[in-house]
Amino acid sequence: MSQVVYITPIKESEPTRVDGIPQTQPYWIHPHLIQSTDPLKGRQFRASNLIPKGACLLVDRPYAIIPVVDDPETNENLVCSNPACNRRAPHHKGRYPCPNACIPDVVWCSDTCRHADQTRHGFECTWLKKYSEPIRAKWSEYDFGMLWIIVRLLATRHTTEMSDQSAFDSITESSPKQLKHSWEGIESLCGSHDTWSHEQVRQWTTFVKKYLQDSPVLPHGLGTDRVLHLICQEEANSFGLYPRETGIFSLLNPPVDRGKQFAAAVYPTAAIANHSCIPNIIHKPDDQGGMVFTASRDIQPGEECCIAYFDLTQYPDITSRREHLRKSFRFVCQCERCTSEEPQEEIIEWTAMPLVDI
Ligand SMILES: [Zn+2]
Ligand SMILES: [Zn+2]
Ligand SMILES: [Zn+2]
Repeated sequence: MSQVVYITPIKESEPTRVDGIPQTQPYWIHPHLIQSTDPLKGRQFRASNLIPKGACLLVDRPYAIIPVVDDPETNENLVCSNPACNRRAPHHKGRYPCPNACIPDVVWCSDTCRHADQTRHGFECTWLKKYSEPIRAKWSEYDFGMLWIIVRLLATRHTTEMSDQSAFDSITESSPKQLKHSWEGIESLCGSHDTWSHEQVRQWTTFVKKYLQDSPVLPHGLGTDRVLHLICQEEANSFGLYPRETGIFSLLNPPVDRGKQFAAAVYPTAAIANHSCIPNIIHKPDDQGGMVFTASRDIQPGEECCIAYFDLTQYPDITSRREHLRKSFRFVCQCERCTSEEPQEEIIEWTAMPLVDI
């Protein structure tokens, strides 16, 4: 029996306006989209009633977001660091860099945003200045991005949970507590040591000891194990942000891909969605770093609502999809499409493998 948890639907409401900062689109969840728990898959979204094609199912705001670009000095897709804004900060419109010149990836779209984000950025600034270069030189850009998003998760926790003085409060106040946008939402994300290989967990343990210990540079007050657990959760739940939709099961030839990644983020509610290679939800970021779910077809009452965790146009056959999901997401896909495309001799082999929910 699966347990059903009803999430109170919210109506679009006017969020508190912070002077000079553009109004942020509020959180939204469709009244027919409910969270439930499946004995095998864990948390999931289901339709409690018919959801018509094209309906907006969810708008979730990031708990932490980082830009992912090749050349921050010239790239037009850097996002404003202020969590109450997170709009793109194009080069030609004039950008506001960090007064301490920590890293060029940190910019704001206006002086007002820079000022409003002082406390939160203050938490990460010294860390960025000290560790960004050594991490990028010794490890990789991916590892740096992962560690930075962990630091930003801790920074949001620090400024919103530990203090009342943050522009971020204006967003969290406008959303109902049932949706768990707070640190509680991050704590309930799936993913643990057991999700990942021993080798991977060993490398992350080294990272935590070297770069993420509770210290004057990063005063988060959490133990090594908790931070390691946070990495295991983040890696299982973070989203890449791309300019075009993810999840279109297109028959166009050549298919249209989702474009080049410009950011990565953690969304406490959007992370509940499981994967399907023939999803009934497409997802795409809005212009403020929010994640928007839209029904790509009519969804029947009781049906699970799924997204695609990767660009379906890049992995057209079952072998490449399963290999990608196994490597990057640590589970074997048993969706309708994979099951129907499965060669008979593979069935025994795949079902013998443990199914890990992400
Ligand atoms: Zn801004
Ligand atoms: Zn800085
Ligand atoms: Zn599949």
